[in-house]
Amino acid sequence: MHIAVLGAGPAGAWASVLLARRGHSVTLIDAQAPWEKPCGGGVTAKALSHFEIFTSDLPRKNIDRITIYFGDKNSVTVTPAKPIAVLSRRELGKYLLDAAENAGVSILKSRVNHIERMVAGGWRLLSRETSLQSDFLIGADGATSLVRRTVATALQPEELAVTMGYFIPGSGPAHMKIYFVPGLEGYIWSFPRPNHISYGLITRSEPGWTARAKTLLSNFIVADLGPDHLKHAEFFSAPVPCLSPASWKANRISGDRWALIGDAAGLVDPITGEGIHYAFKSAELLSETIDKPDEYASRIKGEIGQELARAARMYRRFYRGHFLGADFCKRTVQISRRSRTVRSILGNLIIGNQSYLTLKKHLVFSIPSIGIDLITGRSELPIPRGEGVHQ
Ligand SMILES: Cc1cc2nc3c(=O)[nH]c(=O)nc-3n(C[C@H](O)[C@H](O)[C@H](O)COP(=O)(O)OP(=O)(O)OC[C@H]3O[C@@H](n4cnc5c(N)ncnc54)[C@H](O)[C@@H]3O)c2cc1C
Repeated sequence: MHIAVLGAGPAGAWASVLLARRGHSVTLIDAQAPWEKPCGGGVTAKALSHFEIFTSDLPRKNIDRITIYFGDKNSVTVTPAKPIAVLSRRELGKYLLDAAENAGVSILKSRVNHIERMVAGGWRLLSRETSLQSDFLIGADGATSLVRRTVATALQPEELAVTMGYFIPGSGPAHMKIYFVPGLEGYIWSFPRPNHISYGLITRSEPGWTARAKTLLSNFIVADLGPDHLKHAEFFSAPVPCLSPASWKANRISGDRWALIGDAAGLVDPITGEGIHYAFKSAELLSETIDKPDEYASRIKGEIGQELARAARMYRRFYRGHFLGADFCKRTVQISRRSRTVRSILGNLIIGNQSYLTLKKHLVFSIPSIGIDLITGRSELPIPRGEGVHQ
């Protein structure tokens, strides 16, 4: 079977490698890969431990501290229990394309602008330079997927979060920072990479958000690094899928001779924006079920969809909810400062070792040890110095 894979991000490139290794003839098409895709580049422990690409010597920064802020006055620092890393998307892209080439994948650098189903079945992909036919079509072409728009329904504006950020040259300590701003549905991040720092903000799009978000982000960067660094920074902005509970139910990701993977399938954690793990995982699941589209959809639902749909149901409470009379995030940060147990659960949530599906149960079972932490105050943390940020 000849398979055309549109998009050589982690989903498309990895699916191509795995399908070629299974003996399929694969053409991988991308307009620009490898490139520095707008992305934090944060890879959680669950991805690092599962996919062979991360056991290679791919350049990465291993993170030893994560500080979570809520506004100016509340912060907690957690030490990851398992490795979590940040990497450059260009470097990841290069590794993946080399792996694809070694597996025998044909790589085509071209922007596809039209896709049509042929009368005899199969597909024709058209770009300015070329026309390509295939028996099967994989849409790995990101949040605004042309394949998705052709075979199913495009992700709607309310199903997308918006991001903006800067790549700032230089290197910093292996310290990841996440900053929740009171009233903002989303967060600011600072992720150090091998030779630059990725700063960004993710939020659901709201009218008039751009100017405010840009100001919040630049204030954060100036407080973190000083006023000069923004002058040399490269700005980016990009959408990322952020599906609601209703969208998960309606999300169609496979059909007759086609399938969607990664962002094109909407597979991103709506609370954190994490998508790299799900891109690799959906590539893996598709490679195992390429002849059975229904099985692909049901395995995605069982192994990814339920988790992400739960995150979608928790989204409102996380960003807008209240807990013990204050913002949910603020209280979580405050309690984490005083409770080693909560700090450990929070740390595991960030590195991807705590599922949303079992979070509530885990918290309920931990109530006795959280109570002991809070009563004895034994795990109270010292206030970190010089870690303040300003709005
Ligand atoms: C600002 C930002 C920060 C993020 N930070 C993180 C993070 O820290 N950790 C994390 O896990 N996730 C993060 N994500 C999400 C992550 O980037 C995505 O989930 C991941 O890249 C999805 O991989 P993918 O292969 O599905 O799609 P993509 O990586 O988007 O790749 C799609 C590819 O398709 C190509 N393409 C698209 N259309 C065409 C066409 N018509 N013709 C030819 N080629 C085409 C593009 O050039 C691109 O290379 C972030 C996202 C954003 C926007």
